[in-house]
Amino acid sequence: MKTVVLLAVTCQLALMAPRNIPHVPDVVFPPVPEDARLSSDQLRVLSETNQDPEVQPGLFQGDMALTNDMYDLWRVGLRWDVAPERKWRNNTVHYVISPLYDTSDYVTIYKAILTLNFLTCIKFVPWDGKAKDFLLIWPIKYPQGCWSYVGRFGGPQILSLQPPNAMSANCLGGEGRSIHELLHALGIFHEQSRADRDQFVDIHPENIISEFRVNFNKESLENTTYSFEYDYESIMHYGQFYFSKGKGQPTITPKKKGVKLGQRTAMSHTDCLKINDLYGCLDKSMYHRRKYYTLCKFMGL
Ligand SMILES: [Zn+2]
Repeated sequence: MKTVVLLAVTCQLALMAPRNIPHVPDVVFPPVPEDARLSSDQLRVLSETNQDPEVQPGLFQGDMALTNDMYDLWRVGLRWDVAPERKWRNNTVHYVISPLYDTSDYVTIYKAILTLNFLTCIKFVPWDGKAKDFLLIWPIKYPQGCWSYVGRFGGPQILSLQPPNAMSANCLGGEGRSIHELLHALGIFHEQSRADRDQFVDIHPENIISEFRVNFNKESLENTTYSFEYDYESIMHYGQFYFSKGKGQPTITPKKKGVKLGQRTAMSHTDCLKINDLYGCLDKSMYHRRKYYTLCKFMGL
């Protein structure tokens, strides 16, 4: 049964794939803000310390590609009044999933897209070969790992998901990491960088590889637009050992007992509300408000 579903989905996707996909090189150079740029030694440390695949790319906070302009604005990533050009027009995101993925990886990514289409009013649609702005979901060889630009950048925009290998499931052990990177592409930052995070979590600088302490900086209070409570279980929250010097040395721990930090399984209830709020899905009409509030209620249970 599973094989039949996979085959059906693959055939459907193959039919939808446009023919004029731009050439994507194995090695790309996503922008990294000057202040956050790593030396080759630092990049070597990352590759030698067995880090999470969202840490490996060596981009800003691990997995976010930003220009200097964006870095100056990054604390206001969610404010469309400040950076309106970063919002996807008409709530529509055209995408291409690389034909280099094998069928099961392709389906994992497709499930992440279907999930966002179902739970939000954002429409991910296969690229028609004409739209100027679109996501190229691609297994980039360098930087490796899972990474994305934040918000719409204009033109073809890479979202990198490294396929599994003999060592690790990398970014495609389930659809969670695809959803995490897709949420970055929609304009969402990491939960633990919120201005108010010190009320909820402790950061342990002594356990963080020193070059990467900057990745635990906070956003400024004036510019944040979060109207939701701190979300320990967010799919956008770092795990306890991100950028850790070694096994068993947590870099971030919750102040509240019994909660787990971050996960890459599915959007939490708050993630679901947050993305719907960001793209105006809750304000479109009373019908939409009820619909998305109801759908989000089922998340994180
Ligand atoms: Zn991330």
